Amino acid sequence: MNINDKLFREAKKYIAGGVNSPVRSFLAVGGAPIFIRRAKGSKLYGADGRSYVDYCQSWGATILGHAHPAVVARLLQAISRGTSFGAPTEDETVLAKKIKDALPSMELMRFVNSGTEAVMSALRVARGYTNKKKVIKFRESYHGHADSLLSKSDGVPGEFLMHTVEAAYNDLHSVKAAVGRHNGGIAAILVEPVCGNYGVILPKDGFLAGLRAIADRCGAVLIFDEVITGFRISREGAQGYFGVTPDITCLGKIAGGGLPFGVYGGRREIMRKVAPLGEVYQAGTLAGNPIAVNAGIAMLDELSKDGIYDILEEKTEGLCDGLRRESKRAGADLNVVNISSIFSVSLEGGKFKKFFHALLRKGIYISPSPFESCFLSLAHTKGDIDRTLEAVRLALE
Ligand code: PMP
Repeated sequence: MNINDKLFREAKKYIAGGVNSPVRSFLAVGGAPIFIRRAKGSKLYGADGRSYVDYCQSWGATILGHAHPAVVARLLQAISRGTSFGAPTEDETVLAKKIKDALPSMELMRFVNSGTEAVMSALRVARGYTNKKKVIKFRESYHGHADSLLSKSDGVPGEFLMHTVEAAYNDLHSVKAAVGRHNGGIAAILVEPVCGNYGVILPKDGFLAGLRAIADRCGAVLIFDEVITGFRISREGAQGYFGVTPDITCLGKIAGGGLPFGVYGGRREIMRKVAPLGEVYQAGTLAGNPIAVNAGIAMLDELSKDGIYDILEEKTEGLCDGLRRESKRAGADLNVVNISSIFSVSLEGGKFKKFFHALLRKGIYISPSPFESCFLSLAHTKGDIDRTLEAVRLALE
């Protein structure tokens, strides 16, 4: 039995499914997941003694690559000063200023511990502010595991979904129809400005601006879930990239430097509803945790250097052009979609499983599901990309 099988079997004795988040279990691709011992730059190092070029990068959180020296150095300093105080620190203000500097629409914000929490809290504020109940979301998106946003999970009573209205992404008619059905009752329109959880789906021209107009017309709060896109597709997020300003933005992943972190924030008038300023309750023992906040500061400082996003985009274009070229050469039907340093690779039915494992055998780790996005980091080299394309060529053969 190989070491991953062995570790997985042991983990399953104590941890539900052997993993602490379902997609990690390789359910979509089969086999035991690779257990990771450490990571550096573009590489994961497995308990199996092998190294893997990593295109998951903690689901996009480690945009500088794993264990970036500037992040690690700041973390070590921060940890030695104490790991949690349950009281405010100056560093929280430092990070909040940096976030607002990049995303000026986040006039006032709140730090939480995950993307799930950011979205869940943003919805509560939107409802508190508008005094309305319904939330429009899109079928193709994932916003974390808050009850009212999980239409397909057991354990969520139908009543909890009563105020969730689903529309189709890139289809403004479906949004208008939803608004029409719930005349005057829409508290929020919640959208991933680029869908990253159903392969990568780019917004059609005018879609996001259309949502902005509809939200304004019906008095709803427009919420951009930028948990993936924030500090990823540009320093200004999707809102800067596409030039559409939401009322509230949710961030996670990169904003916390790859540590457990989330943040939501937006128009001052709306955020003034949050306790202690207003009557919408939201709190957290570890919220604004000094370790996560310091990792965030270090990462955002690196990302504010000139040209970072151009480099990321160039590398990703190089990889994705190569993927399309190899697919064509092999007569395969690889569908590659990319924007900035996010990409997805989809293949018909069972072919993805085979493709995934063929790459894995060659030391290339892509996200273990055809519905998940993949990510490049600043640490990926030309050598990594060449090695990947070579593995793809062999896999497609
Ligand atoms: N929103 C989006 C767009 C996401 O992709 C995710 C998770 N990848 C979340 C929210 C939830 O974030 P978390 O896993 O940190 O709770």
